[in-house]
Amino acid sequence: MTIALKDPTLLKTQCFVDGAFVGEGTVAVTDPADGTLIAKVPNFGAAETAAAIDAAEKAMGPWAAKTAKERSAVLRRWFDLIVANRDDLALILTTEQGKPIAEARGEIDYAAAYIEFYAEEAKRVYGETLPSHRADARILVIRQPIGVVCAITPWNFPAAMITRKIAPALAVGCTAVVKPALETPLTALALAELGARAGLPAGVLSFVTGHAPPIGEVMTSHPAVRLVSFTGSTAVGKLLAKQCTGTLKRTALELGGNAPFIVFDDADLDAAVEGAMVSKFRNMGQTCVCANRLYVQRGVYDAFVAKLTAAVAKLEVGVGTEPGVTQGPLITEKAVAKVEEHLADALAKGAEVVLGGKRHARGGTFFEPTVLSGVTQDMKVSKEETFGPVAPVFPFDTEEQVVAWANDTEFGLASYFFSRDVGRIFRVAEKLQYGMVGINSGLISTELAPFGGIKESGNGREGSHHGIDEFVEKKYMLVAGL
Ligand code: ADP
Repeated sequence: MTIALKDPTLLKTQCFVDGAFVGEGTVAVTDPADGTLIAKVPNFGAAETAAAIDAAEKAMGPWAAKTAKERSAVLRRWFDLIVANRDDLALILTTEQGKPIAEARGEIDYAAAYIEFYAEEAKRVYGETLPSHRADARILVIRQPIGVVCAITPWNFPAAMITRKIAPALAVGCTAVVKPALETPLTALALAELGARAGLPAGVLSFVTGHAPPIGEVMTSHPAVRLVSFTGSTAVGKLLAKQCTGTLKRTALELGGNAPFIVFDDADLDAAVEGAMVSKFRNMGQTCVCANRLYVQRGVYDAFVAKLTAAVAKLEVGVGTEPGVTQGPLITEKAVAKVEEHLADALAKGAEVVLGGKRHARGGTFFEPTVLSGVTQDMKVSKEETFGPVAPVFPFDTEEQVVAWANDTEFGLASYFFSRDVGRIFRVAEKLQYGMVGINSGLISTELAPFGGIKESGNGREGSHHGIDEFVEKKYMLVAGL
């Protein structure tokens, strides 16, 4: 198939290594809406990945030696080019990933915003002087780039998961090699093309595509790599962390979640429904911060389920580029199988389907947006991320009970609750064992805030000035003999 781009040269099907597009396409990239072939990208392995890392190591000295303002200017040009090519990038993204085109445009803006923010932040990587223990000496602390960074990213945000790792890395003077998900490499390679046009020197940012394990092994063992930044499943995150111990690399891991979304009986119910819709059904429920468990206090339970069901019934399922569509296909058949497994388990244990509950009539990996009522803590939906368009609504009675249920998971990424009671807002927010809490909002992601999890949801923060911390080492200098 061909994608009708304004600038067809943005559709790159080769890897980008050391400033050049290289390799021959052998791995199929398909449109999840109908399974058609879009393009083939290379299957790079250990040797090609090592070459990309070597190029990054070579490029690191000159890139880090540039002034922050010079690096900032290149990043800013990259940002401008992404914004100027937003529609083409969004179309590539929707075609390989499935999300509705309006959401894809939103993701491109969101992805670009990280580059804009860190182009600005590049100039603010401040050091400090500390009170000295000697009259003839001064203590200085400077922050230097950690070294070569490797990033491994998932398919659910093919643009934003790359820029929020790469923008701060390049801003502080690191160089990087990225392995995008094999489902969605074309958005990544288009970003590579725009980075080259913006003037990123050869080797500063390379992209390798291919089957993950051999690439991951080199990225986690090559001595030049000092940080592996990963977004994806907890299982793969743990594996990569283990592989990194051999050379003691720093890791930044954004892993799975199991987000509770709590509605207290004093909440603004319409606002809570609106929050639940964006939190649950964005990207067809395929984000790590999607509400996974909706806990609703008994007094407003029936009213909430009715309002939520009315809102879900308005969702439009279809191909992401069709006008009015708000729900695209799921990414793969495996994703549909997981949703079906969670549904079957919930129904067997007494939950009821209020709306949806099965594959959509359009076939393929399309699934009906679903609302389940009467959900309880012993069901799979309470333990694992469903990663699909299913809203399971659990009734609860007390604040104490729901906080305990919300925290009863090994995950700790995003959480949400709706309440108008100021005392409850602080009590609950401080007790929730999560890296992020959305209060009276179902949408928390912004480049201006530190995104990240605790417990088995990972470590490290992306976004805001805190996002810089992952990519720098602090160096202490004692200047004596004064
Ligand atoms: P998902 O199930 O959502 O695809 P994964 O954790 O499997 O999540 O994938 C996230 C990213 O991790 C993708 O880029 C994928 O290719 C990569 N990945 C998967 N397995 C490995 C591995 N063994 N080593 C390195 N990267 C991996």
